[in-house]
Amino acid sequence: MGLIVQKYGGTSVKDVKHIQNVAQRVANSRDRGNDVIVVLSAMAGVTDNLIKLAEEASESPDEREMDTLLATGEQTTIALLSIILNSMGYPAKSLLGFQAGITTNSSFSRARIVNINGQVIKDLLNDGNIVVIAGFQGWDDNRNITTLGRGGSDTSAVAIAASVNADACEIYTDVDGIYTADPNVCDKSRKLKKISYDEMLEMSSLGAKVLQIRSVEFAKKYNVPIHVRSSFNEEEGTMVVNEDADMEQLVVSGVTCNKNETRITLKKVPDQPGISAKIFTPISKAGIVVDMIIQNTRSGGDTDLTFTVQKTDFKKAVEISEKIAKEVNAAEVVTAENIAKVSVTGVGMKSHAGVAATMFTALANENINIRLISTSEIRISCMIEEKYSELAVRVLHSAFGLDKE
Ligand code: ADP
Ligand code: ASP
Ligand code: MG
Repeated sequence: MGLIVQKYGGTSVKDVKHIQNVAQRVANSRDRGNDVIVVLSAMAGVTDNLIKLAEEASESPDEREMDTLLATGEQTTIALLSIILNSMGYPAKSLLGFQAGITTNSSFSRARIVNINGQVIKDLLNDGNIVVIAGFQGWDDNRNITTLGRGGSDTSAVAIAASVNADACEIYTDVDGIYTADPNVCDKSRKLKKISYDEMLEMSSLGAKVLQIRSVEFAKKYNVPIHVRSSFNEEEGTMVVNEDADMEQLVVSGVTCNKNETRITLKKVPDQPGISAKIFTPISKAGIVVDMIIQNTRSGGDTDLTFTVQKTDFKKAVEISEKIAKEVNAAEVVTAENIAKVSVTGVGMKSHAGVAATMFTALANENINIRLISTSEIRISCMIEEKYSELAVRVLHSAFGLDKE
């Protein structure tokens, strides 16, 4: 018996039949004597469709209204699940983000949770209800509806679990755990029994969308163990927890790929102090997160400055870059949208040489050209052409000995 948070993603609630399956699982957990809080995503594809509708309505939709629109997807699923649970004889109440007391900052489309007043949730639980909460959303101090960024229901679930001090936080999805690489890309990937918060943070930030990165940050900060598992079977999944002695000590434990990147190069930028600041200050003021940066100085006294940003920020970043290029007398702005970042991660890398050499050789053997490289203590990333990304994941997975027998 305990207090359990269960989050179900879009594919697990994609139609009424699937929501009935979720209802049965929730009811089973209740029958085992648990108090249950359910956090839901929108039906698979619904958030994408809402974005398309907004783009049809306007070239640059108002940010506040965009969040009001995107938050509607989750309202449908929480109401349907509650309807089904009630008709099965399990009292259930649905809550939108604001009704559940989830307060965020005002960064529309990428808001951060700043507080959850768990009282409403606790009162409903005490009255014997299953509480069904819309993921991905909250409101700010000015009563504006906000959303937490794509995949944000994971973060809602972990934050709610932390705020009510839940005994378990279960993330139900369409794969039965976290694998050494995306199992839909690499059929030789292996399921991990456990993974540390730090490794999962790297994997999430590098494109393993199975958990939104902020959910892992929350879990690490508040020490919430996450159990990632399938909503379609009873298999034990993967535990995301603090690093411990019996975790597999692999040099490389994961291969990830992120297709959400774009590249911008300012050609022939004068090689003078202060130029980089001039370029990146307006970019950061626009709320654009820059990922990789590389600067090549040429013999003639100027440099090429290349950086990458997410696809959603590309248009804005190019506009700003073109303006600055004129101001600093750069020759031109060159861009690439069809690029991807492949990365290998692993805590064992800290104490091992040769990981970079193995990675570059494996890519070279397939004639895959590396455009940019970046590293951290436990990661190496290479920017390549997008069309090679699946192939790159598979060859790197083999090169580091991760393939299952
Ligand atoms: P949900 O809709 O349940 O939130 P997501 O689509 O956001 O599900 O995340 C699950 C998907 O994450 C899987 O279908 C899988 O393709 C992808 N994925 C990427 N990397 C990994 C990985 N290393 N292990 C498991 N799944 C991964
Ligand atoms: N529905 C939102 C999305 O598609 C949030 C989520 O599913 O986690 O990104
Ligand atoms: Mg997701």
